Amino acid sequence: MIKKYIQKFYALFSNDIGIDLGTANTLVYVRGRGIVINEPSVVAVNQKTGQVVAIGKQAKQMLGRTPMHITAVKPLVDGVISDFEVTEEMIAYLLNSAQKESKKFIGPKVVVGVPSGITNVEIRAVRDATRNAGAREVYVVEEPVAAAIGMKLSVMEPVGSMVVDIGGGTTDIAVISLGGVVRSKNVRIAGDKFNADIMSYVRSEFKILIGEKTAENVKIAIGSAIPMVQSMEAVIKGRDLVTGLPKEVVITDSDVRDAMAQSVYTLVESVREVLETTPPEILSDVMGRGLHLAGGGALLRGLAQLLHDVVKIPIHIADDPLTAVARGTGIILEDINYFKDILIVNDDDLPPKK
Ligand code: ADP
Ligand code: MG
Repeated sequence: MIKKYIQKFYALFSNDIGIDLGTANTLVYVRGRGIVINEPSVVAVNQKTGQVVAIGKQAKQMLGRTPMHITAVKPLVDGVISDFEVTEEMIAYLLNSAQKESKKFIGPKVVVGVPSGITNVEIRAVRDATRNAGAREVYVVEEPVAAAIGMKLSVMEPVGSMVVDIGGGTTDIAVISLGGVVRSKNVRIAGDKFNADIMSYVRSEFKILIGEKTAENVKIAIGSAIPMVQSMEAVIKGRDLVTGLPKEVVITDSDVRDAMAQSVYTLVESVREVLETTPPEILSDVMGRGLHLAGGGALLRGLAQLLHDVVKIPIHIADDPLTAVARGTGIILEDINYFKDILIVNDDDLPPKK
């Protein structure tokens, strides 16, 4: 009872914050306000001071237009923290900007989602960085778990749920029951790999060099995992490998499918592998309740259908899959006690696998 009042008192003076540290996009959720930051995971760092000067779109724009000592860094590459100091700076920057508008003066409670592939050393680094940045309490949650919570799956009950979170650098596959991850797999095949596949296909088939952004646009515009009723095409511009000059070609949905086929196949096989090692009772829950897709990659046309054809269970795509993890951190913030078994607070809670 008293505890409840103390919590209410704290809530008046601090903002509780959820952070989705994605490989492609970073989102910040503030309790009572919703998602306040949704930016690409890029930071501009002043190399002289080590300070983060901008994040996201603004950081991207600074590229090539700034003095030499400002460089852009992607703090998470393939779901692994590539630069601890920058990550720490970025977390501090996010906490500051999230709190700026509301002028609360007690450190916030923070839930941070991390890719499930990161090591325990990295989890500790994220936790300590968040504390150093002024958080009063820090709770780390694996992103597929947060995604499941964001999708309103009953992860704390004795019933199995399965989530496949297809992000930029990694895909997290997790089977969750009773507040724990029963089976999981983290594969480095996700949106970035599809983009790279399209780039190399265009280079070998059309003898044209295209940038990553162009490849991503093509993927989003006409990409699919299986043939669609209507065929589609897009015009792409790149540099002719022979003449060195700009050149335009038309690329079809079938080209894009060929380009990504191997990666899509590997991804689907990984899902199958996890299902094959899932204990029978939980498997029967998953067969009944279906498999839930989150992350930007969930939007790839025909992927849900392909998965269904292979694993023969119902596939559901999250509403607004790109924000599922951030919304999940928000739901956790509402009742940390209820979710405590699934959160990483101190070293005893670290997953055994790593
Ligand atoms: P992360 O959690 O790793 O930051 P996100 O869940 O934000 O990743 O997803 C980003 C990825 O989703 C990018 O690779 C992007 O190209 C891809 N993506 C976004 N929208 C679509 C779409 N409509 N079709 C296919 N891929 C998409
Ligand atoms: Mg993610």
